[in-house]
Amino acid sequence: MTILDGKKVSNDIKDEITDQVKKMVAKGEKVPHLAAIIVGNDGASLTYVASKVRACERVGFESTMVRMSNTTSEVELLDKIEELNTNSDVDGFIIQLPLPPQINTQKVLMAVNPDKDVDGFHPMNFGKMALDMSTFIPATPFGILELMDRYGVETKGKHTVVIGRSHIVGRPMSILMGRKGFPGNSTVTLTHSHTKNITQITSQADIIISALGVPNFLKAEMVKDDVVIIDVGITRVPDETAAKGYVITGDVDFENVSKKASYITPVPGGVGPMTIAMLLKNTLLARERHMQ
Ligand code: NAP
Repeated sequence: MTILDGKKVSNDIKDEITDQVKKMVAKGEKVPHLAAIIVGNDGASLTYVASKVRACERVGFESTMVRMSNTTSEVELLDKIEELNTNSDVDGFIIQLPLPPQINTQKVLMAVNPDKDVDGFHPMNFGKMALDMSTFIPATPFGILELMDRYGVETKGKHTVVIGRSHIVGRPMSILMGRKGFPGNSTVTLTHSHTKNITQITSQADIIISALGVPNFLKAEMVKDDVVIIDVGITRVPDETAAKGYVITGDVDFENVSKKASYITPVPGGVGPMTIAMLLKNTLLARERHMQ
């Protein structure tokens, strides 16, 4: 069994990006600039954005965090987005989700200039991804592809089962695994909360990508020997013995499933760190495109 070490690979990617930024500086070029808008005071969202800003500092990017209050109106947020859309100093930006209920998330994501949409959530970029065109691939699916690529996980001709069909993980993952090319060329089954007899499906899978957010959902009796397991789930499970009062738990019963797996991602330290690294990669890509 091989651990797909997202922490190590993400550090390798950050080192590679740092080298590229150093070359840009040496040539007198502007370094990539990522901005992040955060609306409200959600603890987890603030933690995620802070780690994205720290990652920018680590690789030598410029970064801007735009904080807006929980009572921000949709119009105010759309104005801020337009400001970033037209600010030529900003190469890419993200809007940290979830947004407060008074704001229509879809409308907001549609307002982002697709050329600066480094999260890859705009329908134009999502459509390009589905059509095998060059675009920004959403960071978490992009990170999963990169992790499999760097470990040489074979995907061609394999049966991949994706659990969860969210717009940010499960749905794009199912499209990407079925695309022509590597990693891809899989036969894909996309499952969700209405799927019947899920064990019958998962037990036929060569690769399982689990993104549902139910701690320890995938058990050893649901998988076959030598399965490849990608655990996207991140759930804070209350634990009084932990310093923070909770532990981060994945969707997979790691202890038992890992005994049957050929490759498996841990939680934490698997897909999570890859997501931030790929956001940086998309920002670098945005900068390169703006230079052309
Ligand atoms: P989401 O929007 O909550 O979607 C969950 C999906 O799981 C839905 O499609 C839902 O089906 C499906 N589902 C729920 N219960 C199910 C069941 N019993 N059997 C089969 N499918 C079931 O989730 P998300 O945003 O994709 O996030 C999923 C998990 O990944 C969360 O723990 C999240 O924190 C984590 N995550 C991690 C990263 C990372 O960087 N590692 C990034 C993003 C998300 P329906 O569509 O029928 O409701």
